[in-house]
This record gives sequence, structure tokens and C-alpha cells, in this order.
Amino acid sequence: MHELGVATEIHRACRRTMESHGPGRIEEVRVAVGELSAVEPELLQFAWQAVTAGTPDEGSRLEVEWRPARQTCLKCGEVAERGAGSWLRLCPRCESPLRVEGGDELDILHLSFTPDDVQEPAP
Ligand SMILES: [Zn+2]
Repeated sequence: MHELGVATEIHRACRRTMESHGPGRIEEVRVAVGELSAVEPELLQFAWQAVTAGTPDEGSRLEVEWRPARQTCLKCGEVAERGAGSWLRLCPRCESPLRVEGGDELDILHLSFTPDDVQEPAP
């Protein structure tokens, strides 16, 4: 499963970011996943649970922001007629060749974590 490697990389990157802050555990990570990155959001969340199981980050949340690719025409701009998961060869309005923009994102947008020395407030 490709997503397992991606989740491992995300976890490693988050841990690197946290190193300068001392020990702690991840609460939530938000990532941008592009349509062309070949990552299934649901599989990535499943992989995240597998990767963080048995670590201090077990139970943390991975939020995925889906970033679709855009097909654009040089004359008409963005082509909205494209259905999800399908590609148009030519612009439906002027029949010019289309370009593909975006959709290859695979970025960590936000990381929230709790340092170990913070005490839970008393009820
Ligand atoms: Zn056009």
C-alpha cells in the first residue's frame, strides 16, 4: 500500500518539527492531498492509524484536504465541465488543447501537538 509509505513520511516530518519543542504527542495533522498524487484520503487515514499505533501519537487525527486538479484553456480559462476522475482532451467551448494545473500537492499544512510537560487542567 503506497499510502503506508506516505503516512510514514508525514509522521517522520512531524516528529522532526516537534524535536525542537521537546517531548510531546501529536494531536492533529492536516495535509493537502492532490488528485494527481495517487493517494487515497481514506487509505491515508487508515495508514496513519497503523503508523502511529504503539507510538505516543496513537489516537491522533489526520485531516485530509482534497485538492482537485484543474484543466484550463488558454483562451477560455478554467474548464468546469470536467467530471470527477475524467479528463477532457479539448476545450468544450473552443476545441483548443487543455493544460492541467495543480492537483499534485502532498503537503503538511498544519501540525498541532501537546508538549509532555503540560498538565491537563483539573476538572
Ligand atoms: Zn477554450
